[in-house]
Amino acid sequence: MEFIKVLKKSRFLDPQRGDEEVVRYSEVRYDPLTSHSSRILDFPVRSVERADLSALVEASKAFCPFCPEVVEVVTPKFHPELAGRSRYSRGEALCVPNAFPYDENGAVTVMTRSHYLALKDFTREIIADAIGCCLMYLVDVAQRQPDMVFQSVNWNYMPQAGGSIVHPHLQVAASSSPTNYYAEVIPALERYRSRHGTDYWTDLVEEEGRQGRRNIGTTGRVSWVTAFAPMGIFDVLGVIEGVRCPGDIGEDVLADLSSGIVRVLRYIDSLNMHSLNMSLYFHLGSPLFTPHVRICPRANIPPFDTSQINYMGMLHRESLTILKPEDVCDGIRRMWEGQGGDVHD
Ligand SMILES: [Zn+2]
Repeated sequence: MEFIKVLKKSRFLDPQRGDEEVVRYSEVRYDPLTSHSSRILDFPVRSVERADLSALVEASKAFCPFCPEVVEVVTPKFHPELAGRSRYSRGEALCVPNAFPYDENGAVTVMTRSHYLALKDFTREIIADAIGCCLMYLVDVAQRQPDMVFQSVNWNYMPQAGGSIVHPHLQVAASSSPTNYYAEVIPALERYRSRHGTDYWTDLVEEEGRQGRRNIGTTGRVSWVTAFAPMGIFDVLGVIEGVRCPGDIGEDVLADLSSGIVRVLRYIDSLNMHSLNMSLYFHLGSPLFTPHVRICPRANIPPFDTSQINYMGMLHRESLTILKPEDVCDGIRRMWEGQGGDVHD
């Protein structure tokens, strides 16, 4: 497994300093599986100021389809030919069809009865109930529609991350069509197997553990690293060992997964960021695809609330960040222990 990075050196003259030469560095990093590239820029890291979200939270309460008073009345029910139940519930979580689906099977899981939670206030129980509720739906879909092999649980939290409704909710997809992520990863896994004769995910966890620079730790059967070539500001990757499909995830693995997610949420909150994207990916029937989760925080750039996604992300599919994954790993590790409840690590 190779972690390839290319150091780029840029030079120009600064007239404010008598045309003194200025040198700037950046890195291009290639994902060890897909060779997808990301750029790490040498910009000064400024801390993000905590935003006051009270006006947004209040305004969004004016009509919220996911608040408990109305959710059962205004959200749709699953079609009996496509799912086993009209709705799925677990704890506070409620999984209903997405009224504006992206695919044949699109669902939304309302995570909490509360209209808004700060990232630090999500508990392991809330996350386990919400993901567990999504998994119940996905297992049912797989039984009735065996060609829906691209299954995922996704989270856009808050408008900065593309969330159009503030109330915490996950988006669940079960599709016969791969997204570009699957289309890149699946052939890359086959190439890796034919080249090395071993399993990519096992090798990744072992190699990151050996190198130690991006290895955050484990929560039971989930191994956590910061991605070498991040897909966002940073990119925490959790690899779930010993499972293949949603039906394999029992209560113990769900607790392991939720414990890690809660720790990552608290780390993001500690940086004064309040927004993130998360995807939990499954590819049913594939012996090479180990289910994994990726979490990337989202933050706009002050003072004009500039989007972090510019032409590089939109049109060159290239991620940009100013945070080195190794530094992020150090930061998460510092608060990793003692967080997330009583899970066995
Ligand atoms: Zn609400």
